[in-house]
Amino acid sequence: MIEAEATPETRKRVLLAKPRGYCAGVDRAVQTVEEALKLYGAPIYVRKQIVHNKHVVSTLEQQGAIFVEENEEVPEGATVIFSAHGVAPEVYVQAKERSLRAIDATCPLVTKVHHEARRFAADDYDILLIGHEGHEEVIGTAGEAPAHIQLVDGPDSVDQVTVRDPSKVVWLSQTTLSVDETMETVARLKQRLPLLQSPPSDDICYATSNRQHVVKQIAADCDVVIVVGSRNSSNSIRLVEVAVDAGARAGYLVDYASEISDEWLAGATTVGLTSGASVPDELVMQVLDHLAERGFTDVAEVTTADERLTFSLPQELKRDMKAAAAARSVQAAALAASAGNG
Ligand code: SF4
Repeated sequence: MIEAEATPETRKRVLLAKPRGYCAGVDRAVQTVEEALKLYGAPIYVRKQIVHNKHVVSTLEQQGAIFVEENEEVPEGATVIFSAHGVAPEVYVQAKERSLRAIDATCPLVTKVHHEARRFAADDYDILLIGHEGHEEVIGTAGEAPAHIQLVDGPDSVDQVTVRDPSKVVWLSQTTLSVDETMETVARLKQRLPLLQSPPSDDICYATSNRQHVVKQIAADCDVVIVVGSRNSSNSIRLVEVAVDAGARAGYLVDYASEISDEWLAGATTVGLTSGASVPDELVMQVLDHLAERGFTDVAEVTTADERLTFSLPQELKRDMKAAAAARSVQAAALAASAGNG
């Protein structure tokens, strides 16, 4: 039998979204653990998953990181790293009480929201924090001013909001929400509270919005959109929702290529591919290989933004790295001098 040559219409293709994967905050948090392991040696304790990605966590575990839920599980005097999602102030206090060497890998864009919460609470505002109940970031931000903050978990929670003074209310948000759903929540809040103030700058971070934006551009052309990311990763789950809302026939979240079912691809000619902000690109490349083995060999990268932001490592770690480098050069100079004398 002679097989018909694939025409442009039947050729199986992948639309690869860019930006995708690691954001500046995740890159910094992962590097913080890696550098701390090099500097202080294993084990290094990390409170909560450093970033919400199964592969990253297991890779760091193999290098000597121990992930714990609370400071109490860390031996007194040991080193603990706080995750990219941020912590409530009481967590720093607990660490001090246990004489832990605490390194804060909170993303600076989460820290910015903490500052806003503190500032508006100090001015006696009621703060409506839009976010997902139980998410670590929300727990950390709410912990900055528990008496002033109430959680609004999506548009359907708006009716439960009560405020003391409708002229002194501001909304803030988790950094990894759906941009569209958050705007819907805000619109509904404004119907009830017309004087509601907005945050001084966007709380949903650049990485979350950029990844959603490019998915919206490709979704309508895709039979299936595959998002590489873990089930506890808020921004990855949002990407699946955004893809389906924007016209993809189906959207799936996978940690690894091996989780992709051939049934998802049956009859598909265009697959969209992206990844959450905590996903190393090697996992996306493995999905591309998996798709190529199934005939999706034509890959077009669709780019809607150029991301160049980087964050420097936490001050406390940089200080110790600098001190260790200085000690090494003193030692090297001493060795050189004694070799010269000999
Ligand atoms: S997703 Fe945004 S807020 Fe979260 S770590 Fe990345 S840059 Fe920071």
